[in-house]
Amino acid sequence: MIKVCKFGGTSMADGTNMRRVADIVASDESRRYVVVSAPGKRFGGDAKITDLLYETYRNVSETGSAGEAFGKVKERFRGITGELGLDFDIDSLLADTEKEILAERSEDFTASRGEYLSARLTAALLGVPFIDAREVVKFDAEGRFDGTRTDALLKEALKGKRRAVVSGFYGEDAFGKVKTFSRGGSDISGAIVARAAGADLYENWTDVSGFLACDPRIVPNPQQIRALSYKELRELSYMGANVLHSESIFPVREADIPIRIKNTFRPQDEGTDILPASKYSYGGRTVTGIAGKKNFTVIFIEKSLMNAEIGFTHRVLSVLLKYGISFEHMPSGIDTMSFVIDSEQLKNGNLEALCAEIREAVSPDHLRVYDDIALIAVVGHGMSRNIGTSARLFQAIARAGVNVRMIDQGSSELNIIVGVDCENYDRTLCAVYDEFFRE
Ligand code: ASP
Repeated sequence: MIKVCKFGGTSMADGTNMRRVADIVASDESRRYVVVSAPGKRFGGDAKITDLLYETYRNVSETGSAGEAFGKVKERFRGITGELGLDFDIDSLLADTEKEILAERSEDFTASRGEYLSARLTAALLGVPFIDAREVVKFDAEGRFDGTRTDALLKEALKGKRRAVVSGFYGEDAFGKVKTFSRGGSDISGAIVARAAGADLYENWTDVSGFLACDPRIVPNPQQIRALSYKELRELSYMGANVLHSESIFPVREADIPIRIKNTFRPQDEGTDILPASKYSYGGRTVTGIAGKKNFTVIFIEKSLMNAEIGFTHRVLSVLLKYGISFEHMPSGIDTMSFVIDSEQLKNGNLEALCAEIREAVSPDHLRVYDDIALIAVVGHGMSRNIGTSARLFQAIARAGVNVRMIDQGSSELNIIVGVDCENYDRTLCAVYDEFFRE
């Protein structure tokens, strides 16, 4: 049995927490490979090391010196080393790191140093070899993650090592420069290591005991999800359930490796299992979880006989491509189509310019824009098997007195996406939760 364990920022936040990490690893022989994040927040209002490093990079590019932010980074790492009582020359390592940051002048390199330093310390604490992600996690010339090369290099690096610590979040591009994944990307690194190690389980240790069926900041005491499928996870995490990076499933999916979310501060809790379809049973429930996000804009286009006009969609999509805009959903009718777009992308005059070009490209009868839309995703494999799911969903929303602005149901029937005005977001989430979970 081989387990790969990834520990998140809170688990690495100070010496006491890192000791917990060491105990967790030591308590199970099969916990062989460890991937770590940079130290996160110790308390509300504290700074994450990664955020301080992004600030360091800004200082370096504006003033040529690492500034106060890097001073705080040094203080944190010195503090952790002291707390752990490690015989480790942290001062020299920090001095070298600062020199490299000044010489490299790269945002990704600077940001990656949190994981680098925390992995070096963890390896020293556990007394096992350190593997620098730079040597084994590779991106191609286009900046895309190179899974095949990475897998081969990592397999080679892990060979003959009973245990090891690998730094999360970053790798190296085709030009020999450090490149990071997007924020929270150590989850992806953990999945990559799990795959290369041929792990039986990828344990992702964090500060909550798994996924909840809904956002607890909005719905009081939501149920815990004991198990969900890769696909359900992807839908829920993409839509805002942010326990795990939504791209973490890709490396483990091909190898059918289950992911288990565990709580470093309550290791006795069962956690949530994320399973491949072959190992997953939806257990008769209709809905697995509900997630949502605010701040979308819907661009609605109407034109009579749109369906008969060959190339209509192509022309609209070409305009989106020209502006580099990605859309989340595209609900359509015979004479209508809508694009649901994250409002962030439409700032600074982009929306107006985009609409003008769409008008020019396809001469619609009407083009309307609705902003301040929130999307709510109701997710579950069980929905396709239970008659009347959408009736229940829309009745619940109607009872809450909320007007539905948009509906999109994926053809897999894995999810139903409902668009409502942002101001009705909380109310809708509670109504839908009550309907499916407080039966
Ligand atoms: N430290 C990085 C971040 O804060 C990556 C990670 O923790 O997964 O985004």
